[in-house]
Amino acid sequence: MNKERYLLLLSTAMLLVGFAAILSTSLADYTDWSYSGDKGPEHWGALAPEFALCADGTAQSPIDIRNASEVDLVDIAFQYGQTAKNIFNNGHTIQVNVDEGSQIVYNEISYKLLQFHFHSPSEHTINGEAAAMEIHFVHQDPNSGALAVVGILLAAGDEENGAYAPIFDNMPSEIGEPAAVGEALDLEALLPAEFAYFTYQGSLTTPPCSEIVRWLLLDAPVLLSQSQIDAFADLYADNARPTLPLGKRDLLLDSR
Ligand SMILES: [Zn+2]
Repeated sequence: MNKERYLLLLSTAMLLVGFAAILSTSLADYTDWSYSGDKGPEHWGALAPEFALCADGTAQSPIDIRNASEVDLVDIAFQYGQTAKNIFNNGHTIQVNVDEGSQIVYNEISYKLLQFHFHSPSEHTINGEAAAMEIHFVHQDPNSGALAVVGILLAAGDEENGAYAPIFDNMPSEIGEPAAVGEALDLEALLPAEFAYFTYQGSLTTPPCSEIVRWLLLDAPVLLSQSQIDAFADLYADNARPTLPLGKRDLLLDSR
């Protein structure tokens, strides 16, 4: 086998490993990892050969957002529809797998929305401060396999957020397979009103930490009630990977 072919196969295999991790319904058959103890984030890279980037990568996520360069960025065009609520507890978070048909268009590339899930507290921090929670909308370019993840910070407000209620009222406490619950979910209603964003090139924030993610972190938070935030924390009080160095990467903020 020549070297080019080997490298192509290797990179395809790494993408598949990343993709399997993104969509997997249960990670029980996958190398076990956690957010604390001897399988916690500082040990992920040593748990399995395919997790090496978690320790050795130079473009890892999340990061602390600070000193971003303000530039004119292209808009993120959200083309979100409705989805059946295929909500489940995968052992690391609460995840919703979405029906086909929702996507973002970014830099003239269509990234299909695959799933979204939650972290508590937020994984990205702003000037060292974490928000109560962070939601990740995971999109993929079917042609290249590259991911674009939209991150939104969730903070406590005075009222229950009705758009999120169908999810937060139905979070399974037991690990299990996706199951459609209740009526369809309006995905667009989950977004904030403003789409200004920070962006940088990074990784999955869970093993195998594949460095295939264009991160789009919205500047505007979404507000949930404290009891909604507490309902998630009852299941996952700390499922956030600590921040990693930005290193030589560009961190940009939409200046408009
Ligand atoms: Zn995530």
